[in-house]
Amino acid sequence: MALIVQKYGGTSVATPEHIGRVAEKVIATRGAGCDVVVVVSAMSGETNRLLALAHAITDRPDPRELDVILATGEQVTIALLSMALQARGCPAHSYTGAQVHILTDSMHNKARIMDIDAARIQHDLAAGRVVVVAGFQGVDEQGNITTLGRGGSDTTAVALAAALKADECQIYTDVDGVYTTDPRVVPEARRLARLTYEEMLEMASLGAKVLQIRSVEFASKYNVPLRVLSSFEEGAGTLITAEEEGMEQAQISGIAFNRDEAKLTVLGVPDQPGVASRILGPIADAGIEVDMIVQNVAEDATTDFTFTVHRRDYTQALAILQDVARELQAREVSGDDRIVKISLVGVGMRSHAGIASRMFRALAEEGINIRMISTSEIKVSVVVDEKYLELGVRALHDAFELGRSGGQPEGE
Ligand code: ADP
Ligand code: ASP
Ligand code: MG
Repeated sequence: MALIVQKYGGTSVATPEHIGRVAEKVIATRGAGCDVVVVVSAMSGETNRLLALAHAITDRPDPRELDVILATGEQVTIALLSMALQARGCPAHSYTGAQVHILTDSMHNKARIMDIDAARIQHDLAAGRVVVVAGFQGVDEQGNITTLGRGGSDTTAVALAAALKADECQIYTDVDGVYTTDPRVVPEARRLARLTYEEMLEMASLGAKVLQIRSVEFASKYNVPLRVLSSFEEGAGTLITAEEEGMEQAQISGIAFNRDEAKLTVLGVPDQPGVASRILGPIADAGIEVDMIVQNVAEDATTDFTFTVHRRDYTQALAILQDVARELQAREVSGDDRIVKISLVGVGMRSHAGIASRMFRALAEEGINIRMISTSEIKVSVVVDEKYLELGVRALHDAFELGRSGGQPEGE
């Protein structure tokens, strides 16, 4: 029998009525002859409410205790969904992450799944039950409750699908698939019928929050077919798989953006070996992740060194740089936390020159100044002022004709 893992996000389980509708969808899938494992998120807004509660107690909640409270959101929805299924005559059992041994490392608030014990779930499935598992949470080797980072229920679902060798992992959400860009910013955005893991990974890494990055990594590693669908409308959604021979490749599959960026510059550092590591070493030691890095060509014997970090790390990174700058006898440190990153993604870019220049032209025509550029094989990213985010994304969406009236067929 086919096995499907379905994940329902926060908006899909927002109220008891929504949960009833999810139960009906699950039952319909069973009716079509599939075993079903369901992963649910907390009701929408609940994780934020729990976070706010913790922060009302202390500015810096202990990460271990934070996981204990955050994990409660999903514990509510698994029981409610299980009851909704039972009330409709469908046998079901709910489980927390720890109960089905979703074993993670001990990095509280951003733990990684290491192993899942599929036996208990398989036993329930064989007994004819639907298994409902709490998303976003696990347990470490010492028995501490952990959570997987925001959006982590996606990863729970894919990891379960991999462990159970499911035929498909379906992510039900409030949009009916992955779009050329966030449809909330560009209403003309077009749903993509298919994407490769690689493209989706770039989109997610560059800010498209429709899937947690880790879930796409998992899907790619274990070759789990992943489908993004709407909880509210019928449709085929977006299927994400490995690149297949003969799969038609759009040049550009989409535009991702990230509002959580900040940039820092050390001006007038001596242009000598070891400088980059002396600047970035202390940043890494503080656990701050660096994204783009640019070093100017030295004119006198000094150079400027610029990099970007997550906005939440901006103040700390700036303080570290002040110290480093003093040690290096650099001229000055400057920073800006009102910047965003916009990226153009597509595997078809590999074989097409001129994408970047077309991108820069489209931004220039709108008078948008590019502050940093970075490219890889299948993406071009630019950093621009925050106020240009919407304008920039729309301009690029138009320039590359990604909209509904655009030239690229969907190819269902
Ligand atoms: P859930 O609560 O179901 O996990 P999320 O809010 O995490 O849902 O993800 C769905 C949202 O992702 C959409 O409402 C949409 O605004 C956003 N999004 C961002 N980029 C894209 C994209 N390229 N395609 C579709 N949705 C996107
Ligand atoms: N409830 C968690 C969050 O809001 C996990 C998830 O929904 O995926 O981030
Ligand atoms: Mg999500």
